[in-house]
Amino acid sequence: MMMSDYQLSALHRNEYLQKARSQEFDVVIIGGGITGAGIALDAASRGLTTLLVEMQDFGAGTSSRSTKLIHGGLRYLKQLEINLVREVGRERAIIHENAPHIVVPKKMLLPIIENGSLGKYGTSLGLFVYDKLAGVDADEQRKMQSKEATAELEPLLRTDILQGGGLYYEYQTDDGRLTIEVLKTAAKYGAISLSYVKAVGLEYEEERAVGVQLMDMLTDEQLTVRAKVIVNAAGPWVDELRKKDNSLNDKRLHLTKGVHIVVPYDRLPLQQAAYFDVPDGRMIFAIPRNEVTYIGTTDTTYTKSPKRPQADIDDVTYLLAGVNNLFPTVNLQVEDVVSTWAGVRPLIHQEGKSPSELSRKDEIFYSKSGLVSIAGGKLTGFRKMAERTVDVVMKELYKRHDRSIESCSTDDIIISGGHFDDPENLPNYITALTDAANTANNNLQLTEKQVHHLVYKYGTNTPMILEFAAADERRLPIEQKLLLAEVRYGVACEMVHTLSDFAIRRTGRLYFERNELDDCYHLILDELERLLSMSKQEKLQQLNDFEEEFEAVVAFKNTLQLN
Ligand code: FAD
Repeated sequence: MMMSDYQLSALHRNEYLQKARSQEFDVVIIGGGITGAGIALDAASRGLTTLLVEMQDFGAGTSSRSTKLIHGGLRYLKQLEINLVREVGRERAIIHENAPHIVVPKKMLLPIIENGSLGKYGTSLGLFVYDKLAGVDADEQRKMQSKEATAELEPLLRTDILQGGGLYYEYQTDDGRLTIEVLKTAAKYGAISLSYVKAVGLEYEEERAVGVQLMDMLTDEQLTVRAKVIVNAAGPWVDELRKKDNSLNDKRLHLTKGVHIVVPYDRLPLQQAAYFDVPDGRMIFAIPRNEVTYIGTTDTTYTKSPKRPQADIDDVTYLLAGVNNLFPTVNLQVEDVVSTWAGVRPLIHQEGKSPSELSRKDEIFYSKSGLVSIAGGKLTGFRKMAERTVDVVMKELYKRHDRSIESCSTDDIIISGGHFDDPENLPNYITALTDAANTANNNLQLTEKQVHHLVYKYGTNTPMILEFAAADERRLPIEQKLLLAEVRYGVACEMVHTLSDFAIRRTGRLYFERNELDDCYHLILDELERLLSMSKQEKLQQLNDFEEEFEAVVAFKNTLQLN
């Protein structure tokens, strides 16, 4: 398969739109979350002409709002979803191998407590079965701990109800970045992806869906694109499109909301991530990440619009109570929460099941019109979901258009940013890059810590950011030069159109560095204005929109004041 010159550049948007108008695609994908992104990569790498449209920014639906774990799904074992455990366990290893910069092993402690949901033997057996089913590497397999050893591993745990613990590994990611890296990889295979383009209707010929009516959300312009097969990967909006297609039946979505809260690391200084029981019988995560620890998640039925769900005070107090129950000395308060995010799970409805009992399995719905809808599933399983979906697309193309069937090869495709000579040794890469950045030629005077942060976001694309910083002749402190180089890279290679795209989905700063962001968001916006030749009105609109999101993550505190 030939590599293409496409990039995901905001500067070439008109060119991509023109391409979209002027050809019939083998497949048009609606939805630019991780599911759509995975399908775009799979389809394009099998040689299909591929267009993906996303009505917001890429990942702005659920795929920037998860717990950010590529996980083997220990909880599915409890629900006896054996095949799911096996599949996501294997997927975890593949994604880590193909994107080692953004899928990183993370040690996890599972404390065993009196009357907890997993007893000592249950946990040991569960983790053993999990290791076997998921094919976990020997050095990452579970290690059971005595009560004393567990308390030593995590001194903040209460000991009166502690019985022991299990140590195992999960993989941490940045979901928004994973989505964009997959889309960048798809672009290398020729897929065109457009953000801020909404599918508003379908076009039919002899009752078959053959085109998609689109609305450019940045200009209000309308256009129609033609497709041999249309894939609906709209996440929590899947049923809206099925309704437009008159194909919504008994199988429908059940949306549930999940909230995470963020506290400064020194308010919950865990020695490693923890997955632990809360009093109502559910389990939640607390995960240290650089200067913060984040905690989640809730799981409650959700019936409002999936656009920009928010944490409310009940979500926050539930999570705080869960932490304070097991780590009582930290005594977290609402005031400690510095940021939050909420996401909506697009699960498939099962009669009589509570939100946390609903299966996380994915399912493909194939309608009479030929619309292929994919719903349910997990971030972790995106590659396999994409494979199954494109298999259906391929069969359709074979049946109706006599196309030869190509098989999936994404297990062997390195994701953008993952091209390391020695993927198991990122620290060496970071040292070498820091040395190179500090040579007389570049003279950036960077610390390894600064380069480390960039490499765990951008991987082997980091040198481009450092080049941008070195070429910047403005008299600015190095931290600002680096930040603005990231902005420039985001515009040129990751389709950053707005301040929110950059500060939320591309870099996670709103969640993990909200205070620091407060000091620099005007600077970022000024740079975007320059790079994207924004009008004053556009700039003002972006500012208002961002400030709304900036406040929304702590809006639950207003309810507290009213009470
Ligand atoms: P989305 O990311 O929502 O993408 C669908 C996209 O379609 C949206 O961006 C939307 O704007 C777009 N769209 C909708 N309608 C249109 C239209 N008409 N035109 C154009 N675009 C349209 N999974 C894990 O593996 N690990 C985890 O740790 C994990 N934690 C989670 C925690 C929470 C709180 C939640 C909510 C989910 C979690 N998940 C996790 C599940 C995972 O996040 C989701 O399964 C996944 O992100 C869904 O991706 P998606 O692409 O299907 O949906």
